[in-house]
Amino acid sequence: MVSEKNVSKHVCVIGAGPAGLVAGRELRREGHSVVVIEQHHDIGGQWLYDPNVEDEDPLGRNPVLKVHSSMYVSMRVMSPREIMGFTDFPFLMKQDRDMRRFPGHREIFLYLCDFCEWFGLRDMIRFNTRVEYVGMLDYAEFGKDLKWVVRSKEKKSEKMVEEVFDAVVVASGHYSQPKLPTIKGMDAWKRKQMHSHIYRVPEPFRNEVVVVVGNSYSGQDISMELVEVAKEVYLCSKSLDITEGLSKVISKHKNLHLSPQIDSLHEDGRVLFVDGSWVIADTIIYSTGYKYSFPFLDTKGTVIVEDGRVGPLYEHTFPPSLAPSLSFVGIPKKILGFPFFESQAKWVAQLLSGKRTLPSFDDMMQSIKEFYHSLDVAGIPEQNTHDIANFEYCDRYGDHVGFPHIEEWRKELCVSALVNSYANLETYRDIYDDHELLQVAYQSPHFTQLGDQPFSL
Ligand SMILES: Cc1cc2nc3c(=O)[nH]c(=O)nc-3n(C[C@H](O)[C@H](O)[C@H](O)COP(=O)(O)OP(=O)(O)OC[C@H]3O[C@@H](n4cnc5c(N)ncnc54)[C@H](O)[C@@H]3O)c2cc1C
Repeated sequence: MVSEKNVSKHVCVIGAGPAGLVAGRELRREGHSVVVIEQHHDIGGQWLYDPNVEDEDPLGRNPVLKVHSSMYVSMRVMSPREIMGFTDFPFLMKQDRDMRRFPGHREIFLYLCDFCEWFGLRDMIRFNTRVEYVGMLDYAEFGKDLKWVVRSKEKKSEKMVEEVFDAVVVASGHYSQPKLPTIKGMDAWKRKQMHSHIYRVPEPFRNEVVVVVGNSYSGQDISMELVEVAKEVYLCSKSLDITEGLSKVISKHKNLHLSPQIDSLHEDGRVLFVDGSWVIADTIIYSTGYKYSFPFLDTKGTVIVEDGRVGPLYEHTFPPSLAPSLSFVGIPKKILGFPFFESQAKWVAQLLSGKRTLPSFDDMMQSIKEFYHSLDVAGIPEQNTHDIANFEYCDRYGDHVGFPHIEEWRKELCVSALVNSYANLETYRDIYDDHELLQVAYQSPHFTQLGDQPFSL
């Protein structure tokens, strides 16, 4: 439902990554007063590369991490740049920058800097300030106007500031807190064990025998660059049924081996696999993904954060009993991130202004119940609760707030890159045959709206 109302709220956004930036912009556009609190010295979130990982626990077992970004030096995006941009700010190629279609992480950082500059966002961001606590001023009562206490600490002065906000948008990301497997002997294994969260370059692993656990994007990327320097690389995969692309890579590199899961680790350095084979390894790199973690958030048990599920959340965004004054932007995975965050941010902003309303508490809870049930029926584990991988869902989500549906060319470019990566893992970022689709994209309003050419500024 849309109304003419326009109430202005005092809103705190936690994090100045892509989700927090677009949330800040949408909230301000809607007339709210906004403070974005960011623990680092700059914007970008994951895209603000951080080489200083020495002080981090190698397995990232602390609830509050020292390092946020998990980007490694060679990291390049896995989908083409054309589909990444916010709907009103295309990700253009610029002279003297990384003009590749699948650029490195710095180019995404620079795109986000351009976004900030274009929309004048920096003045609402409080840098070098970490949110330490977020809690309700009073106990929640559905329908009652909530207030939130936010305590944050400035890095240099270590001064804690306490403020009260009408609403809090959590946009603190979820690719930092390592998710680790439980393996027999893990604590007793005396050699190097680390999570890919702190992997940066292959050089430290020269001439080593390295076991990489986890055959996801990062696990594959890291293994592919380690083979150039390491003596042997064992890539452990849950399933030995792998893509054509990965099999091509394995057959090309004699020192890259596909292994089953680890059974146990032994004090003499042995890594025993579940099929009975073993190797003596120097290092184990766990590329086993990340878990949701909001160490600052106290909702008195209303929002339960498990490794792979944050809930109950209506449409992955609002805890029904605290909505819309508490919201999460950026929880979903397997989506076209930036535009999806934008649609979430618009919805949050318009709910807070009173322009739109949410369904009743009971209806939201019922919807969540039905959603969880549908996951159970489909055999989808809890840890994949927020994996969307569905363009129709994104379009339906956008309908809540009149957000444009994903353009056909975006969908097709996305699928085409995915298919290419399955077949040609090593080369898909440089060799592609989607030129016709690309022309359609370049001629679309998304690329022509700012009056620039998509490939030369
Ligand atoms: C290795 C790797 C590869 C990836 N590749 C891709 C890709 O190819 N394409 C893609 O679209 N996505 C990719 N991603 C996902 C990427 O994380 C998202 O694109 C995007 O960065 C998520 O944005 P966000 O704003 O939700 O979170 P983040 O980018 O993580 O930003 C969160 C921000 O919140 C701040 N913050 C956290 N806690 C606090 C606190 N307590 N107080 C103050 N500030 C806080 C952080 O410092 C950070 O700036 C990749 C991620 C990783 C790790």
